[in-house]
Amino acid sequence: MTELTDVEKQALIDLANEARKLAYVPYSNYHVGAALRTKSGRVYTGVNVESAAYPTTMCAERVAVYKAVSEGERAFEAIAVVTDNGGSPCGGCRQVLAEFGLETVVLIADGSGRLVVETSVGGLLPLAFTPEHLGK
Ligand SMILES: [Zn+2]
Repeated sequence: MTELTDVEKQALIDLANEARKLAYVPYSNYHVGAALRTKSGRVYTGVNVESAAYPTTMCAERVAVYKAVSEGERAFEAIAVVTDNGGSPCGGCRQVLAEFGLETVVLIADGSGRLVVETSVGGLLPLAFTPEHLGK
């Protein structure tokens, strides 16, 4: 697992919390912000984006991952996820994060920016089905 300093961790949480203000959540009013730090040192933020056709809603974590991948990034160091109450990533996001490595650090924080849980993608998704299972 990559060793981020406490300052780096808090900076990532703060970026996720700042991004959270941009969440488009007219239905749930549950604002989520994510900040994904790549091994190249760049940070991609994401917010949840809801839709009147509910199933087409997208999570903040996946928005951040998709932004990064679409910019050519696939090696992730850490992701910070911030919600009002320190909620953790959904199953779908855990699976998408697992695609890019079980060692990615996961920082879950509440709306005050306080770290609630620090774990890894592997910690969030034990016995993950990964590209290795497909021989990739
Ligand atoms: Zn999700």
